Amino acid sequence: MSGTLFIVAAPSGAGKTSLVKALIERERDIALSVSYTSRPPRPAEVDGVHYHFVSRGVFELMIERGEFFEHAVVHGDLKGTARAPVMQALAAGRDVLLEIDWQGARQVRAQVQDSVSIFILPPSRQELERRLRARASDSEAVIRRRLDDSRNDMAHAHEFDYLVINDRFEDALAEMRAVVAAQRLKSANQLKRHAVLMGDLLKDA
Ligand code: 5GP
Repeated sequence: MSGTLFIVAAPSGAGKTSLVKALIERERDIALSVSYTSRPPRPAEVDGVHYHFVSRGVFELMIERGEFFEHAVVHGDLKGTARAPVMQALAAGRDVLLEIDWQGARQVRAQVQDSVSIFILPPSRQELERRLRARASDSEAVIRRRLDDSRNDMAHAHEFDYLVINDRFEDALAEMRAVVAAQRLKSANQLKRHAVLMGDLLKDA
């Protein structure tokens, strides 16, 4: 496997989706994995772009067939990453980013030891609550449940390699890009990428 597998997780309201979108736009050679889910699409969501939307039956069949790299129940819906496209991209030397929850991150880490995981945190509880309220026209009960879920998610922050606090968006984005750059600059990765250069630099005079 030669590409790097990046994992990004966050509680809802931390700004993960916008940060990942901006990161992928700037770092064009990272492929964003499209997950499978059993939940129905929201109005603006497109099948094959935001998720592969499948029935619960199809999802369960895929689990039985061992087609998932990781899968979990997230907010009551089945979510999972198909194994084949991720492995193919990595084998071809491409970096891949998985936007998944902490349960999935655990499963991936157990299989790919040199994966790189980032957890995004909000700058405060108040700000998390403000973002959750600003974003949705949800009932108070739904917002309360999201806040509880967020706290549960954040209790797993220590399992990740890097923590990024999303206070100012541009700063958080720069920090995520720094993680990607550091990973790519590791000598093992650089030596693979620049094998021809190294051969040239080290050849006998
Ligand atoms: P949504 O709001 O899209 O229904 O749910 C978003 C949550 O599902 C986020 O916590 C996100 O990380 C998680 N999620 C999305 N895709 C996957 C996946 O393939 N596997 C896992 N484990 N979690 C996922």
